[in-house]
Order: sequence, then C-alpha cells, then structure tokens
Amino acid sequence: MPAQRGLGVAVIGTGKMGADHVRRLHDVISGARVAAVADIEAERAKSLAATIDGCTAYTDPAAAMASGEVDAVLIASPGPAHEAALIEALGRDLPVLCEKPMTPDTASCLRVLEAERRLGRRRIQVGFMRRYDSEYVKLKGLLDGGELGRALMLHQRHRNLAMPPGFTDDMLITSSVAHEVDATRWLLGQEIVAVAVHRPAPSSLAPAGMNDPQFVLFETASGALVDVEIFGHCGYGYQVQAEAVCERGTVRIGDEQGPRVSVDGRWGGHVPPDYVERFEDAYDREVQAWVDATRRGEVTGPSAWDGYAAAAVCEAGVVSQREGGRAEVELIERPAFYG
Ligand code: NAD
Repeated sequence: MPAQRGLGVAVIGTGKMGADHVRRLHDVISGARVAAVADIEAERAKSLAATIDGCTAYTDPAAAMASGEVDAVLIASPGPAHEAALIEALGRDLPVLCEKPMTPDTASCLRVLEAERRLGRRRIQVGFMRRYDSEYVKLKGLLDGGELGRALMLHQRHRNLAMPPGFTDDMLITSSVAHEVDATRWLLGQEIVAVAVHRPAPSSLAPAGMNDPQFVLFETASGALVDVEIFGHCGYGYQVQAEAVCERGTVRIGDEQGPRVSVDGRWGGHVPPDYVERFEDAYDREVQAWVDATRRGEVTGPSAWDGYAAAAVCEAGVVSQREGGRAEVELIERPAFYG
C-alpha cells in the first residue's frame, strides 16, 4: 500500500467523468496520485497522462492494473465495461471506486457480488456521490434525527439541460433516475419494492422518438411513496431538488442558494449547466473519503449490494416503461456479507 508518495490510482476511462476525476485526484485530493490511465481511445489516455508526472497511459485496463505502481482503481468507463474491470480488480485484490451504474443489469451485478464474496472482503465502492453532497447529508441527518417523525413521501426533481446524442428512454431510468433510486434507499433506509413510470405528452423539444419528461413513482418497503420527475431536456440548466414530507414537518433541498442578483428591473441567479458543477463538492468529498478509507485498509460508502439493489429497481422501472403499470422489484435476500 501507499508509501509517502500516496495511493497510486489507475483511472479506467478518460472521458468526461474520468478526466474530471484525474484532475480531482491530481489537484484537489490529498494522499493519492494518478499512477495510470487507461482508455480504449489511445490518444485520449496518452494526452491526459502527458499532463501528469509519473502517469502511464494504457489502452488495456488490465495492463494498467498490473502495473506495480497501482494500489487502487477508479472506474469511469461506460457501464457495460464495468463488469470486466471490476472482476479484474477483484482478481488482483485492488480496492475500487466504480462510477454508477455498478453494471447495467442485475445478472452482471450478481456475478460481481459473487466475485467479491469469493474474495472474502469488501473491495468495491459504487459512485453514488449524492451521499456526499452537503445538502443531502443534512437531509439524511434530519430524517435520522427523528424530530420530524417518519418520512411519508419524498418528491424529487432531476432536470438536465440536454442529454448526449444516443440517450434513450430506458437510460433516463438506468443512468439518471439511478441516482434517485440510491438517494431514496439511503435517505429512507429501506428497499424500494415497486416502480411505476408515467409519461406525459412529450415536450416538443425532446429528440424524435424520446418520451421526455417522465414521472416515476417508487413504493418503499414500509409504505412511503416517492416520486421523481426526470426531465432530460429542460433547456435551462441542471437542477436536482428533493423534498421530504414527514409526520411533523417537511425538508427541502436543492433550491438555489447562490447569490441573488438584482439588476435592470429583474432579479435572479445562476443555474449550473451540469452535474460536474452542481456536484463538484460531492465528488471531491466522495473521492477524498474513498482515498482515506482505502489508506486505512477500509471500504466505506455505497457497496456492491447498493449497486445491485439500484440495478434491480432500474430494471423494474424499464419493465414499467415498456409494459405500463406497476412493476415489482425482484431482489435476492441480502447476503450477511453486506451487513
Ligand atoms: P464518456 O463517454 O465521456 O467517457 C467514457 C470513456 O471510457 C471514453 O473515453 C471511452 O473511450 C472509454 N472507454 C470505453 N470503453 C472502455 C473500456 N472497455 N476500457 C477503458 N475505457 C473505455 O462517459 P462519462 O460521461 O465520462 O461516463 C463514464 C461513467 O461515469 C459512466 O459509468 C457514467 O454512468 C458515469 N457517470 C457518473 C456520473 C455521476 O454523477 N456520478 C455522471 C456522469 C457519468
């Protein structure tokens, strides 16, 4: 494990998130250094590695992990590439921070759970970074504190300026609402048991063939109702909001807190363009907590079980999208290994 030089991290995938995590590990985080980057696009990896002393570029994630300089792995390749990288890292007993989704479906998630169980110790943290956002942390504290009573409902809104080309209806669930799935499970401390997806007449500004926005309803094990508005092309910025309705009070987060400027007969503020800006602090805290725990020889944060449970809820959501009505979530019994 890391000597004075810090935890040697291999970053797999150097696209939007991977490049941002490389910058973060290099410029913001203490106790870690970027020892290797890997991307199937050789030039992308090479040009990023060239900006960092002591960083080697690879096209093969396994070769990056095999480098003697690597103590831990941050996976930021697309979801379908995660399983192979996770299995490779577990085979080398390397701690991993894996961007969401852990893998795209429950069958592959179960293979990852089995590989981690066979290894005999937890090695995987899944990148559900809202658990590190200061407002979400305060909301969790208020709900756990008990003063407000039991949470009865949770209203959530997740709006994007626009989605990248090729984004599909089911990705609105598996890639975007996946964050609200994890936030719901974590905030309320219970599983989601059923999902129903409703679709208003689509916005005329949505890409052809896409049903955008969508309205998703979760039922939880203790009977709370949770709704999520997912809007992929709201056209004005990136907005994530939540309101918990409890027996004795309500809590709202995500209302813009920035400077309110009055000028030229109007007042207003800034809406961030995307998650990189909106959740910058959360990503910083997430990666710092991962580095610190890894250096202590611990694994904290969302586990592979959380990655699997989120995939199961998303799978039910896609069934409801395609078939209509309410789809029940099918979960295996939680292994004792995951506490
Ligand atoms: P991206 O397309 O910008 O980048 C992906 C990179 O991975 C590309 O450079 C691609 O060439 C590379 N790649 C593809 N297959 C690979 C493989 N087998 N091995 C190594 N590299 C490979 O995608 P992105 O937006 O950066 O998303 C990456 C991951 O981050 C996804 O899992 C996505 O869901 C997740 N993500 C998380 C958040 C969050 O808020 N936590 C936000 C956006 C994206």
